[in-house]
This record gives sequence, C-alpha cells and structure tokens, in this order.
Amino acid sequence: MKKKNAAMVCFSGGQDSTTCLFWAKKHFAHVEAVCFTYGQKHSLETEVARKIAAEAQVPFHLLDVSLISQLDPNCSLVNNAIRMDEDKPADRYPNTFVPGRNMVFLTFVAILARSKGIHHIVTGVSEADYSGYPDCRDTFIRSLNVTLNLAMDDQFVIHTPLMDRDKSEVWALADELGVFDLVRTQTLTCYNGILADGCGHCPACKLRKAGLEKYLSTKKKD
Ligand code: ZN
Repeated sequence: MKKKNAAMVCFSGGQDSTTCLFWAKKHFAHVEAVCFTYGQKHSLETEVARKIAAEAQVPFHLLDVSLISQLDPNCSLVNNAIRMDEDKPADRYPNTFVPGRNMVFLTFVAILARSKGIHHIVTGVSEADYSGYPDCRDTFIRSLNVTLNLAMDDQFVIHTPLMDRDKSEVWALADELGVFDLVRTQTLTCYNGILADGCGHCPACKLRKAGLEKYLSTKKKD
C-alpha cells in the first residue's frame, strides 16, 4: 500500500544529508534513512550516520554497494594509493568524484522505498557546490526521476531541498530546522574522516568552514 506522507532519505551522516533528514522530518509524517557503504576509506561515516538516525528517531538502513569501488578504483575516496585533489583540476573532475555513485544510490533507495510503499525520496545534492559533480545537477536528478518512474512503472518524487543553496544557506536551513548545533558537532563531512570541524584542509572541510563563517557573519548583522 502507498504511504502518502512518507519519505526515504539518502543519508551519509554529513552536513547536507543530515540537514535533509530533518527537513524531511518537518515535511513528512514518516521518514526513513538509507546509508551506503561503497568502499569508502572511512568506516566511521556509517557509524556517525547510524547515531544521527537514532537521535532523529528514524529507521536506519545500511546497504553495501562496494562493488562501485571495485569497478572504478581511480577515486581518492576509495583508494589509499591516490592522493586526494585538494583543488579542482582545470581539465577534469577532482578525484573525489565517484562515477555513478548518486545514480546507484538513488536507484537503490527507490527500490527499497517502493517495497515499503514509500514514493518520496530526499537527497542533499546541490548545484551550488564547488565541484560541479555531474550527478549533483538538477538536470540529472529530473532525468533519473523520469527513468525510475519508467523502470518501475511508478510515480516517485525526488526532492532536492539543497539544490540551489550554497553551504552558508545550508547552515541557515539547519538553524531554521533547529538542528544547527547537532549538524555542527555530530556530522562528518571531512574527506579525511574527522568528525565535526574536520581536518580543516580537504575540499569538503574548506567548503563547510567557508559556508559556516559566511552564515555566522550574516547572522550577526541581522
Ligand atoms: Zn577534512
């Protein structure tokens, strides 16, 4: 049976997907979280996600799609031998890009959601992010939404509450949702696997920190 007011969140325990989890809790009566292992170097990520889901009181699912890292080992998030790009190279995507990851994640989320009668899917992708990963773009999400509907002869709705928000606006949303401190102290965004403020120098930490500083400075002026 279709559950009308239910959503499944693609969840990693990072700043963006944690903000999305609480956004979903505000907009849907029933929310579940799906987290993935894909061969990432930092297993702490899934433990952080599990803990936040427990605190948010939502059911937590952990799916293993580590086949991705076996198919393409050229990503620094899954291969210790590759030095992480700390700046965006001019001629290619940074090696923190995991090809196909969001397509695989969202497809598995849709299959699991459908089995539970859930048709709303929430993901924290953003076009305003620095990297410009192709599978974070609105065009891709809309295209996949159509494909999932056709593939399963169903009507999914993929929600992307962060699509047009830069990192400072994501902090603002967390604050609006009353989870600013939780996001600041309990999430893991750092590519080097360090909780909260992180290592400070990887691209994810730089982006998170710049966004936080921008948000706090605009907040002071209000
Ligand atoms: Zn870091």
